[in-house]
Amino acid sequence: MENQKATENGNNIDHNFLAVNGDARDGSALIFLGTGCSSAVPNAMCLIQPSDPPCQVCFQSLSIPPDRNPNYRCNTSLLIDYSQSDGEHNYIIIDVGKTFREQVLRWFTFHKIPRVDSIILTHEHADAVLGLDDIRAVQPFSPTNDIDPTPIYLTEFAMASIAVKFPYLVQKKLKEGQEVRRVAQLDWKIIEEQCDKPFVASGLRFVPLPVMHGEDYICLGFLFGEKCKVAYISDISRFPSNTEYVISKNGAGQLDLLILDTLYKNGSHNTHFCFPQTLEAVKKLCPKRALLIGMTHEFDHHKDNEFLVEWSKREGIPVQLAQDGLRVPIDL
Ligand SMILES: [Zn+2]
Ligand SMILES: [Zn+2]
Repeated sequence: MENQKATENGNNIDHNFLAVNGDARDGSALIFLGTGCSSAVPNAMCLIQPSDPPCQVCFQSLSIPPDRNPNYRCNTSLLIDYSQSDGEHNYIIIDVGKTFREQVLRWFTFHKIPRVDSIILTHEHADAVLGLDDIRAVQPFSPTNDIDPTPIYLTEFAMASIAVKFPYLVQKKLKEGQEVRRVAQLDWKIIEEQCDKPFVASGLRFVPLPVMHGEDYICLGFLFGEKCKVAYISDISRFPSNTEYVISKNGAGQLDLLILDTLYKNGSHNTHFCFPQTLEAVKKLCPKRALLIGMTHEFDHHKDNEFLVEWSKREGIPVQLAQDGLRVPIDL
């Protein structure tokens, strides 16, 4: 397939580096639906009011199609293709942001994802939830909304916010005289912001990882996988000590894969890790390997991955920037 070649060869994805225990197409895999910041990449201002010289990263989007451009990044979102022992596949998506529909059209088709079996939300910010209206696009058609609702796992706090943003997705019964309108059917399930309150979504167990996303806000990451342990943390400015313990080599045990937030290349930010803090955290947690997500246009995929190859050799932990569409086979 033309696209397949483009992504696997054109973008120099090193599958040996990234493969985590096996790469059979019928096994479990992680698919990075989005690896960019909230405003996504390209940054619109770089294109409508170009600087002189123009932003190299954003300008690539004018000549390279998104499916072949690792510097084209939608909102952070991960699809877990969970293959159970009986060979059944379950599709679990973490976050449904502003760019959800575009991600479905591009990567569900490319990776042959037929549906979404359950949804997990990290928090209620726009880049994690504003695609929820479009969930109906991946649900069976019923003009009367008579379908099995998709389970969606979220905190009480996120639920209250979504009830304001999308009252029609939360409303249980029609009011007197209200017409039926087709909307996404969701089965809301409240989870706790605590590492010791795991939950099961589509047969896979998840441990919530509360982290600070700004000092006034708790966001969830998730730890999952029985055979290979994966932690996904998309929005973080600081690790509380108990969360850090749960995913540290020196604490509860070494992760096979850490997926971690990194917003800007330099400096720091009040609500996110930037590159220096992200790399410090990787060293401290010491996973077997790490992939970074949430990048702005400051990151140039190939250039920064070259830097990371050197860093990885030096520190003994393979780390790379992820990219939209990346599929990582993994034994869960
Ligand atoms: Zn730019
Ligand atoms: Zn956020």
